[in-house]
Amino acid sequence: MTSVRGIQVRCARPNDLAWCAGIRRASIRSKLGAYRTLLKPATDEMTLASETRFFIRRMLKRFTRVLVALVLGSLSLASAYAQELAPTAGPRQADYLNSRGVRHFEDQQYDLAVTTLEQAFMVAPGNETIRGNLLRARWKAAEQLHEEGKTEEAIEKLVPALELAPEDPTLLVYIATLQISISHHRLAAPFLEEALAAKPAFGDAWYLLGEVHYYDGMLDHAILDWEQAAREGPSENQSRVQERIAKARRELKVESGFKSDERGHFALRFSSGEMNSVALTVSRILEDLYYELGGQFGLFPKVPVSPIPVILYDAEQFTEVTEVQEHIGALFDGKIRLKITPDNRQDIEKLRQMAAHEYVHLLIYLLAGGKSPFWLNEGLAQYHSETWTQSHSSRYWEWVGSASAKYPVTLADLDEDKLNLSDPEFAEAVYVKAFAAGRYLRNRFTREEVTNLLSSIRAGRKMSDALQEVLGLTYEQFEIQVAQTNSSAG
Ligand SMILES: [Zn+2]
Repeated sequence: MTSVRGIQVRCARPNDLAWCAGIRRASIRSKLGAYRTLLKPATDEMTLASETRFFIRRMLKRFTRVLVALVLGSLSLASAYAQELAPTAGPRQADYLNSRGVRHFEDQQYDLAVTTLEQAFMVAPGNETIRGNLLRARWKAAEQLHEEGKTEEAIEKLVPALELAPEDPTLLVYIATLQISISHHRLAAPFLEEALAAKPAFGDAWYLLGEVHYYDGMLDHAILDWEQAAREGPSENQSRVQERIAKARRELKVESGFKSDERGHFALRFSSGEMNSVALTVSRILEDLYYELGGQFGLFPKVPVSPIPVILYDAEQFTEVTEVQEHIGALFDGKIRLKITPDNRQDIEKLRQMAAHEYVHLLIYLLAGGKSPFWLNEGLAQYHSETWTQSHSSRYWEWVGSASAKYPVTLADLDEDKLNLSDPEFAEAVYVKAFAAGRYLRNRFTREEVTNLLSSIRAGRKMSDALQEVLGLTYEQFEIQVAQTNSSAG
């Protein structure tokens, strides 16, 4: 146990101590970054240049008065003018820049608002109104970047705002939320610690700290955090928190004796013994996929201090943890979980197929912010892990031809992830349809078009609008094209 700024950090085991020290270092680094960014001069905007000219002209006028007094030989008058110079010029210039900044903010030009208000705040650093406006502008600019999928830039924009409101728990938790949304869980930890130091009964911060520990495989700590969140948090989140606790308890029961192996971009967890050699093979496969599929999707997730969690189970462990049906062999739910059986443990091709499928889910999760429709997610995952065969083709046509009376048939019907896949016949039909759509998408469109489609969904567009805007097709046209190009194998 150790205490960091008044909040107890549970570092019971030696590796946890290293973990805690790591997040403290990350915290200090982010503070330094904040300081530098705040002092960075604004240089870009024409408007700002004209505002600076206005300021300089005003200052020159005042200097001229001092000079004239000196030339006339009146030292006392010159001194009086000189004393007047600084205290009066600052607030007026600050007011002017502040009102310009507010206008930019109202026009939703948040970047411009930030640079203008930064200037105002430099002129009048003690002004609470300007401080509040600058904080709001930075926050809005960051929100906008996050919505555009530029979350790392958003965090860079927002961290300097901590200098304006160092102990604001809501701001700290928002930054942590952004870090977690791009799977930089360990980087979120110092912000959550600071938030809890300022407001120990902050349920949301405890909940997110649980997410950080959970992602990092510290399941017992995650459970304690979520229990705390349940005590402190708002009542509408209770069922979500209880679900997380129940899930983590199931995992802890199975994984308590697992060993952890961080190498490359992945952190593998598995029971020792014969799983050791499988872990080594899977880790090599994943490292290859990181580059190969990263190239296909234009995304190489940065894992500065949070490697991607991958857990290997035997069949029994897999069912106990995931509670899914027996025929499912792997899944991605924020972590990659693979079922290792006597049938696949020696089969590199099968392991690769399984790992590729789940790794595509992870990439799509990051690119579409978790909002990808079912068919797009499964369609691309299958395309990148399997080969389309004559068998797929005939199943596809069987589905289109005969299942229409029994099941929803359009891709738009598969838009929402509310499908009941417990009927194996229905599940198979849905997956084949998704595969056909994924295959068409990849064969017909460029990598940029596919990733633009995903980022458009991330930005909140409906799938039908995204198809129209990015690919120039209605849902119906897209569906017809899929059918036409999947009429044969190959
Ligand atoms: Zn899948």
